[in-house]
Amino acid sequence: MDCIFCKIAAGEIPSNKVYEDDKCLAFYDLNPAAKVHVLIIPKEHIASAAEVSKENSALVGHIFSVIPEIAKKLELGGGFRVVTNCGAHAGQSVGHLHFHILGGEQLRMEMC
Ligand code: AMP
Ligand code: ZN
Repeated sequence: MDCIFCKIAAGEIPSNKVYEDDKCLAFYDLNPAAKVHVLIIPKEHIASAAEVSKENSALVGHIFSVIPEIAKKLELGGGFRVVTNCGAHAGQSVGHLHFHILGGEQLRMEMC
Protein backbone atom coordinates (compact mmCIF):
# COMPACT_ATOMS: atom_id res chain seq x y z
CA MET A 1 0.00 0.00 0.00
CA ASP A 2 1.28 3.43 -0.90
CA CYS A 3 0.98 4.98 2.55
CA ILE A 4 3.67 7.35 3.80
CA PHE A 5 3.07 6.55 7.47
CA CYS A 6 3.16 2.78 6.81
CA LYS A 7 6.54 3.43 5.16
CA ILE A 8 7.70 5.43 8.18
CA ALA A 9 6.48 2.62 10.49
CA ALA A 10 8.42 0.09 8.38
CA GLY A 11 11.56 2.27 8.46
CA GLU A 12 11.46 2.74 4.67
CA ILE A 13 11.15 6.52 5.10
CA PRO A 14 13.25 8.12 7.85
CA SER A 15 11.64 9.93 10.76
CA ASN A 16 12.84 11.66 13.87
CA LYS A 17 11.56 9.11 16.40
CA VAL A 18 10.66 9.95 19.97
CA TYR A 19 9.07 6.63 20.99
CA GLU A 20 8.63 3.19 19.47
CA ASP A 21 7.28 -0.17 20.53
CA ASP A 22 5.84 -3.16 18.68
CA LYS A 23 2.44 -1.48 18.16
CA CYS A 24 3.08 2.22 17.66
CA LEU A 25 5.58 4.87 16.73
CA ALA A 26 5.90 8.55 17.65
CA PHE A 27 7.99 10.98 15.63
CA TYR A 28 8.37 14.73 15.15
CA ASP A 29 6.05 16.38 12.64
CA LEU A 30 7.93 17.69 9.58
CA ASN A 31 5.97 20.92 9.62
CA PRO A 32 5.51 21.78 13.31
CA ALA A 33 2.43 23.78 14.32
CA ALA A 34 3.70 24.29 17.88
CA LYS A 35 7.05 24.38 19.68
CA VAL A 36 6.66 20.67 20.30
CA HIS A 37 4.70 18.77 17.65
CA VAL A 38 4.86 15.00 17.56
CA LEU A 39 2.70 12.47 15.74
CA ILE A 40 1.85 9.08 17.17
CA ILE A 41 0.64 6.35 14.83
CA PRO A 42 -0.34 2.70 15.08
CA LYS A 43 2.06 0.54 13.05
CA GLU A 44 -0.96 -1.26 11.61
CA HIS A 45 -2.69 0.71 8.87
CA ILE A 46 -5.96 2.25 10.05
CA ALA A 47 -7.15 4.94 7.64
CA SER A 48 -8.62 7.37 10.16
CA ALA A 49 -10.65 7.69 13.36
CA ALA A 50 -13.66 6.73 11.22
CA GLU A 51 -12.10 3.28 10.74
CA VAL A 52 -11.64 2.54 14.45
CA SER A 53 -13.78 -0.45 15.46
CA LYS A 54 -14.27 -2.95 18.27
CA GLU A 55 -11.67 -5.11 16.49
CA ASN A 56 -8.86 -2.54 16.41
CA SER A 57 -9.68 -0.06 19.21
CA ALA A 58 -7.24 -1.72 21.62
CA LEU A 59 -4.50 -0.12 19.52
CA VAL A 60 -5.99 3.30 20.18
CA GLY A 61 -6.11 2.48 23.89
CA HIS A 62 -2.47 1.44 23.70
CA ILE A 63 -1.53 4.72 22.01
CA PHE A 64 -3.29 6.72 24.73
CA SER A 65 -1.55 4.63 27.37
CA VAL A 66 1.88 5.72 26.09
CA ILE A 67 1.04 9.39 25.42
CA PRO A 68 1.70 10.38 29.09
CA GLU A 69 5.13 8.72 28.87
CA ILE A 70 5.91 10.67 25.69
CA ALA A 71 4.61 13.91 27.23
CA LYS A 72 6.90 13.37 30.20
CA LYS A 73 9.89 12.68 27.96
CA LEU A 74 9.16 15.86 25.97
CA GLU A 75 8.72 17.87 29.19
CA LEU A 76 5.12 18.82 28.44
CA GLY A 77 4.24 19.24 32.11
CA GLY A 78 2.64 22.61 31.30
CA GLY A 79 -0.02 20.80 29.29
CA PHE A 80 -0.53 19.50 25.80
CA ARG A 81 -3.19 18.87 23.17
CA VAL A 82 -3.99 15.58 21.42
CA VAL A 83 -5.76 15.97 18.07
CA THR A 84 -6.79 13.69 15.24
CA ASN A 85 -8.14 15.05 11.98
CA CYS A 86 -10.61 12.73 10.30
CA GLY A 87 -11.62 13.21 6.68
CA ALA A 88 -11.82 16.14 4.32
CA HIS A 89 -13.75 18.57 6.51
CA ALA A 90 -11.12 18.21 9.23
CA GLY A 91 -8.29 18.64 6.73
CA GLN A 92 -6.83 15.15 7.15
CA SER A 93 -3.89 15.06 4.74
CA VAL A 94 -2.38 11.64 5.48
CA GLY A 95 -4.76 8.64 5.32
CA HIS A 96 -3.22 6.70 8.19
CA LEU A 97 -4.58 7.28 11.69
CA HIS A 98 -2.36 9.68 13.62
CA PHE A 99 -2.67 11.72 16.76
CA HIS A 100 -0.96 15.08 16.93
CA ILE A 101 0.63 15.85 20.29
CA LEU A 102 1.10 19.62 20.56
CA GLY A 103 2.66 21.60 23.37
CA GLY A 104 5.72 23.40 24.65
CA GLU A 105 3.94 26.77 24.63
CA GLN A 106 0.51 28.30 25.24
CA LEU A 107 -1.65 26.82 22.47
CA ARG A 108 -4.23 28.84 20.57
CA MET A 109 -7.57 27.21 19.81
CA GLU A 110 -6.94 27.33 16.03
CA MET A 111 -3.67 25.44 16.50
CA CYS A 112 -5.03 21.98 15.83
P1 AMP B 1 -3.12 15.80 9.10
O1 AMP B 1 -3.15 17.06 8.27
O2 AMP B 1 -3.89 15.86 10.37
O3 AMP B 1 -3.46 14.59 8.25
O4 AMP B 1 -1.62 15.64 9.59
C1 AMP B 1 -0.60 15.13 8.78
C2 AMP B 1 0.68 15.64 9.38
O5 AMP B 1 1.72 14.83 8.91
C3 AMP B 1 1.02 17.09 9.01
O6 AMP B 1 1.14 17.85 10.21
C4 AMP B 1 2.36 16.95 8.27
O7 AMP B 1 3.24 18.01 8.56
C5 AMP B 1 2.87 15.62 8.78
N1 AMP B 1 3.76 14.89 7.90
C6 AMP B 1 3.56 14.57 6.60
N2 AMP B 1 4.58 13.84 6.12
C7 AMP B 1 5.45 13.69 7.15
C8 AMP B 1 6.70 13.03 7.31
N3 AMP B 1 7.29 12.36 6.29
N4 AMP B 1 7.33 13.08 8.51
C9 AMP B 1 6.76 13.75 9.54
N5 AMP B 1 5.57 14.38 9.46
C10 AMP B 1 4.93 14.36 8.29
ZN1 ZN C 1 -0.65 3.38 6.47
